[in-house]
Amino acid sequence: MSLMTGEQYIESIRKIKMQVYMFGEKIESPVDDPILRPSLNSVRATYDLAQKPEYADLMTAVDPDTGKTVNRFAHIHRGTEDLVKKVKMQRLLGQQTAACFQRCVGMDAFNAIYSTAYEIDKKRGTNYFENFKNFLHYVQENDLTIDGAMTDPKGDRSLAPHEQPDPDMYLRVVERRPDGIVVRGAKAHQTGVLNSHEVIVMPTVAMSPDDKDYAVSFAVPLDVKGLLLIIGRQSCDTRKLEGGSIDVGNAEYGGVEALTVFDDVFVPNDRIFLNGETEFAGMMVERFAGYHRQSYGGCKVGVGDVLIGAAATIADYNGAAKASHIKDKLIEMTHLNETLYCCGIACSAEGAKTESGNYLINLLLANVCKQNVTRFPYEIVRLAEDIAGGVVVTAPSEKDFRDPKLGPIVEKYLKGVQGVSTENRLRILRLIENLALGTAAVGYRTESMHGAGSPQAQRIMIARQGNIAAKKGLAKALAGIKE
Ligand code: SF4
Ligand code: FE
Repeated sequence: MSLMTGEQYIESIRKIKMQVYMFGEKIESPVDDPILRPSLNSVRATYDLAQKPEYADLMTAVDPDTGKTVNRFAHIHRGTEDLVKKVKMQRLLGQQTAACFQRCVGMDAFNAIYSTAYEIDKKRGTNYFENFKNFLHYVQENDLTIDGAMTDPKGDRSLAPHEQPDPDMYLRVVERRPDGIVVRGAKAHQTGVLNSHEVIVMPTVAMSPDDKDYAVSFAVPLDVKGLLLIIGRQSCDTRKLEGGSIDVGNAEYGGVEALTVFDDVFVPNDRIFLNGETEFAGMMVERFAGYHRQSYGGCKVGVGDVLIGAAATIADYNGAAKASHIKDKLIEMTHLNETLYCCGIACSAEGAKTESGNYLINLLLANVCKQNVTRFPYEIVRLAEDIAGGVVVTAPSEKDFRDPKLGPIVEKYLKGVQGVSTENRLRILRLIENLALGTAAVGYRTESMHGAGSPQAQRIMIARQGNIAAKKGLAKALAGIKE
């Protein structure tokens, strides 16, 4: 099988009998649910764009092991050029969807596990690299979307996994059998899990030998027995049930997260990539987090492009575009957004080969990238709200606008400059609201803070990678200090 079309992807997800719950009810057909569908459309875009010749260079790659063309989301990075193209692909998709298109977590998991499994096998004589490569080729061959599941619920944050009063607060092995393992636990805020064919689980922290049962990585399909998803609430999510197209801001695309519960799920031996080798848990976490922090220098920049464009558009519609402070705010937004892109490109260009042969980003620069992402989108949103004016949160609803009695009043009083319809002004305001505060804020503003790790996680890595000792050496040499 070659690359799937977007439609084939949707139908392939429709066939998976997964257990999805939302608002206390089981969702029988998540693919057709109006609240969930926009998030599926975002993943669909990763398939649709891969079909277009003009994007082939970014959206596809050739796997040197098989010689086959694969979607770049299923590709192992073979050089810094691949790392740079990954970021450019993510910016492109951010621009096209203004949402989280979800498929990156699997790609980042593939690349982290590829190099880690190789190093575990080398040291411990295990068979994880072979297991993983077989899984990867199956994914590539069938052009699948894989969720990467890392974040455990974590319970009492001051305690290690094995010290938790409830032992399930980190996902763990509860039974070892000749043919595989049985796992129990949960992974929190899993972006796009219900739009995936399979899920790859990884540990969430570095571990000590006492955490042996928690050092586990594996892949299972979404319809595996014991897997259940509870969809996360998003602000304004029920606007998608109202039937209009203005108030949702971005009617076509969105993102979705779910609490993903593993209630005694069986994993066969050939789908296991880590099982008790605690000293490698930290390596897997660090590499996955590094790749995903690189990713944010692409996807968030693409969404930022849309937000800057929306802010410039509302300035036009308000008749404020010529004001010097508006121009300056748009320059500032652009400067911040491109700074994030610089970080994404830099950590890619400075990537290096791992023992397994794939390429890892520069970890220091990737963490600096994500640290900036925890800040700059907030400032970009602040400036967008400033430019938009208070009407971004006070405008009447689409139903008022369509009402025979109220519509003409809304039409008259919410108008901006001559030549621009009130409807278009409302549309761009709702898009800004969606990106800043609404459902897309999950994928832009708040996700910029916590996605790929909260700010302190990057600061720990920056401290570890910053090499202050070498910098002291530079200063002492120039100061003529001999100790
Ligand atoms: Fe991809 Fe960005 Fe969503 Fe992560 S947050 S899955 S990098 S689009
Ligand atoms: Fe994310």
